[in-house]
Amino acid sequence: MKSALLIDDDPIVRKVLSKALAASGLSVREAKDGEEGIQAALQHRPDAVICDLLMPRCNGFQVCRALREKSAELPGLKIIVTTHRGFATDRLNAFESGADHYLVKPILAEEILRLLEGKDTEKAAPTGPSGAPVPAAQLRPGNLLRFWGVRGSIPTPGPTTVFYGGNTTCVEVRADGQLIVLDSGSGIRLLGNHLAAEFKGRALELTLLLSHTHWDHIQGFPFFAPAYVANNLVRIVGYEGYRKGLENTLAMQMESTYFPVGLRQLPSSIIFSEQKEMDFHIGPVRIRSVFVNHPGVTVGYRLDTTTGSIAFLPDHESYARMRLHPRAGGEQGQGTLDYCRAEDQKLVEFLRGVDVLILDSQYDEAEYETHIGWGHSCYEDSVATALAAGVKQLFLFHHDPQHDDARISHLVAHARDLASSHGSSMTIEAAREGLEVSLLKTKPN
Ligand SMILES: [Zn+2]
Ligand SMILES: [Zn+2]
Repeated sequence: MKSALLIDDDPIVRKVLSKALAASGLSVREAKDGEEGIQAALQHRPDAVICDLLMPRCNGFQVCRALREKSAELPGLKIIVTTHRGFATDRLNAFESGADHYLVKPILAEEILRLLEGKDTEKAAPTGPSGAPVPAAQLRPGNLLRFWGVRGSIPTPGPTTVFYGGNTTCVEVRADGQLIVLDSGSGIRLLGNHLAAEFKGRALELTLLLSHTHWDHIQGFPFFAPAYVANNLVRIVGYEGYRKGLENTLAMQMESTYFPVGLRQLPSSIIFSEQKEMDFHIGPVRIRSVFVNHPGVTVGYRLDTTTGSIAFLPDHESYARMRLHPRAGGEQGQGTLDYCRAEDQKLVEFLRGVDVLILDSQYDEAEYETHIGWGHSCYEDSVATALAAGVKQLFLFHHDPQHDDARISHLVAHARDLASSHGSSMTIEAAREGLEVSLLKTKPN
């Protein structure tokens, strides 16, 4: 005679189901919560555990994991999770926790008997890449970039930010047949909607290039519509953050504690490419990376296309300004001075002659005084860097959440004055949502 342990906090369910199972020839024990159920399973070693998902003290996911950890003591145990809820994510999480089957109540005893006899081979729905993608839809000709999120730190919607926009970092680049997305802050949601409307279900292939994994650069990804379309291919490229690795870091923000759909449950094919080299290609577009002065593993990118170059450094603080500031607390000797200036100069060389520079300009000098070592720049340093590097077009970026439209316009005007006081005619703008920049126009004749 087969034996089953029925774990459910609802006495009526226990009574009805155990009676029906016993009538069908099963030996049935009952437990009224997860903790009691785990103890009973270890003590009596039933052939099957039928376990409710949501119970006080110890839920069904925990029961599954606890019993699977003891698999040496419970060989061949079959776990059937039961629930009154039909959420796909609960189902997948139950399978991940160790369940063999997942049944939505009301449940008939015959269903359980069929599962115990092994006649039903239900398994977890495929959660990984959905097979080889079909070739990507053709991009419209022409190289351009578009800003979808320009804000730093946290989204700042509201009437005072409508002109420049309140979404966090996301920039779209279309160049040489490639669709490259720079960071996935909340702005990527708008880009995703735009792509869905443009491609209307045709398969899409794109590369998401991440500067780093601070929240304001990844928080929009769970809302990126193309990631929910099978046959789309999303390649995520970046550098490893602290310990966890790129894939785990992105998966963590989509764990069920924070979000209802897991990263690995997304229907599109998502391929992670953790870079080791600082110089690589996305199709014909050459990508060069540089580590910048920002907490954690953070890089800036330079993209060289056939019609112009783009540099993207959304989060960066001047080495010299930070380390040599009287309140920075570091050693202020000539050696430090020389070292920091050399580091800043290396960045200038990296940016040399770039057509479009998107650069962290979160503060002005006065605000910087209370933000030393936060990993962000003041616009005065952005202008100086761009001028030294011979940049053609500078976009002030990573706007402070405290800055409204009027304040940002004010900073741009000051930045332009600063450049012209040095005799420069470099174009300076503050990045704003929806702004489109044609790379063809930036290419000198
Ligand atoms: Zn940031
Ligand atoms: Zn950051």
